[in-house]
Amino acid sequence: MNTVELKNCPFCGSNAERKTNKRYRKGYLATVGCKSQLCPAKISQATLHGDVEEAYKFAESVWNKRTDPVMEGKDGE
Ligand SMILES: [Zn+2]
Repeated sequence: MNTVELKNCPFCGSNAERKTNKRYRKGYLATVGCKSQLCPAKISQATLHGDVEEAYKFAESVWNKRTDPVMEGKDGE
């Protein structure tokens, strides 16, 4: 299995993992989130088509997306 490496949780720094998935229309709704029992951080993303792996990859890419600490492209107040 070729999985994406998940970044640590942005809130508590714990590892992240694949959580749950369920059918969503013709695709899947997949959730990835923080491994910590005490931390509610998670992200769910749905694909309208495709298999569960695709849905997880989508959710993982969103989970791994972080705000760039350097603001760019905007000047002015
Ligand atoms: Zn966390």
